Formats: sequence, structure tokens, C-alpha cells
Amino acid sequence: EGKENSSEKHSISRDDIVVGRILGEGFFGEVHDGVYKSPSGERIHVAVKTCKECSAEVKEKFLSEADLMKNLDHPHIVSLIGVIEVDPVWIVMELLEHGELGSYLVEEQYTLATATLTLYCLQICKALAYLEGLNMVHRDIAVRNVLVASPDCVKLGDFGLSRYVDEQEYYKASVSRLPIKWMAPESINFRRFTTASDVWMFGVCVWEMFSLAQQPFFWLENGQVINQLELGFRLPKPQQCPPHIYSLLSRCWSYEPNNRPTFSQLVCLLNDFHRMELEQ
Ligand code: ADP
Repeated sequence: EGKENSSEKHSISRDDIVVGRILGEGFFGEVHDGVYKSPSGERIHVAVKTCKECSAEVKEKFLSEADLMKNLDHPHIVSLIGVIEVDPVWIVMELLEHGELGSYLVEEQYTLATATLTLYCLQICKALAYLEGLNMVHRDIAVRNVLVASPDCVKLGDFGLSRYVDEQEYYKASVSRLPIKWMAPESINFRRFTTASDVWMFGVCVWEMFSLAQQPFFWLENGQVINQLELGFRLPKPQQCPPHIYSLLSRCWSYEPNNRPTFSQLVCLLNDFHRMELEQ
């Protein structure tokens, strides 16, 4: 009693969930909203991820994301509420009422202050500094994987490609569906993914935020990107991006991974920038 291991903590009963409308289509199946009645009687709004063609193999992949999330606990990472492992398999997460950041940025484009965008960058950076401390590489940092809890709180929400890596080691990806336009040169060339390549991707994600969800390198084909990067070209400064933040992005996009800042350094800098924005 009192001692919970993570599998007990996350085992919940289907009877305690009322499933509602469809929120969106995920890679494995529909995502619904719902209400979960917790053991203490509290009603919690949740997102229920379902798995459509759930063969044993697919099910393992589907549940691997939830397995990773069981060990994470951070105010800017979507929290896992539980998993129902008997068919039909469900992953139950906290609901982020305002949905995907990409659409939110478009809807709210005329009201979003630079200070607010800087706050979102800071919050995602804090989540990534937390992962950096756990030696976890995310590999898919992009606005499409950030969800909006409230107008002043965003969370990192998708761990489909995340992996633990040993220090100094890296994850060698085999997947072919990779987000080329977000990727560091060494990830494109050698499928090499490290915390330093996550820093590059974070830079692209910040670029997306300040350009209000434009696609990075929309003017290029995937196949042209690596050439441009090797010639030294980088994404241009979005109009709404303050010059001091753009110069940080340029450092995140150093060709040499060791020359990029770490997430903990970025948290300090973004924290100062956010404070400066508030004082203006
Ligand atoms: P997958 O990673 O499996 O492709 P997503 O996590 O992208 O699935 O989920 C699909 C859609 O469901 C998202 O685009 C988003 O609109 C919605 N969604 C997913 N998780 C949540 C959540 N926790 N709160 C609110 N909406 C969510």
C-alpha cells in the first residue's frame, strides 16, 4: 500500500471513461475527447487515443509511446493518465483544450504578442531540457507536436519517435518517414540523432512559431534541403521574430553539433528574453 509502481499507477478501467467526439486523426487511429472518473471521484477531461488496425506488431509500436510517457513528469509535457491494454487498446492522456499549436497560431495570429510566442518557446525548451537530463532524444520537435492547454501554457505532446540514448551515444534511425525539413544535417546524412540534433529541430520549431505556422523551407523539395544547408543557407528571420532570438536560432543551426547551445543554456537565455519582452 502506498507504494505504486508505474504499471499499477497507469492501469485504469474502461468503465471509468466516457468517450466523446473525435478530436483528430492520429497515426494509429482516431483520437477522441472524453471524461475519466479517477479513483478519488474527480472528473478529468481526457484525450483517448485508439488503435485501428491493431495487430500484435502494431499494438507494440502504439503502446511504446505510452511506455515512454509513463516515466515523464513535467508541467510542459502532456501527461499520461493511463493505458487500457486489453482490446480495444486505448491510451488515455490529459486533454489540452485548445488543440494543436499550429492551428492555434493561425487562428490567433492577430492577437499573439511577441512575449507570448517567447513564452511558448521557453516552455517547450524547459520540457526539452528535462528530456536532455534524462538522456532522451525526442527526434520530432515541431509545432505539429505541441498542444495548447491555455493561452499561456503549451505542452510537448507526441513521443512517437522518442528514444532513450546512452550518454555520448546516439539513436540510429531506420525509419524512412522522417521530417527532413526539421532535421539537422547529420540526421539527414547519417540518420544520427542526439540531443544536439534535437536543439537544431527546436530552432526550426521556434522558427515555425514566429512565422505563425508556415512550413519551414516550403519553397524547397525535401531532396534539395541538405544541399542548401551544406552551402550555408538557413531559414530566414520571420518578421515577428526579435533579432536576439534569431541570433540564438543561428547558433542552434551550427553545422557542427558541438557548437550548438544545450537546452539548459537555451532556457536561461529565453528566460531573460521573455522577461525583457514583458518589460517593454
Ligand atoms: P499521432 O501522434 O498518433 O499521429 P497525435 O498525437 O498527432 O497522433 O493526435 C492526433 C490529433 O489528436 C492531434 O492532431 C490533436 O488534434 C488531437 N490530440 C492528440 N492528443 C491530444 C490531447 N492530449 N489533447 C487534445 N487533443 C489531442
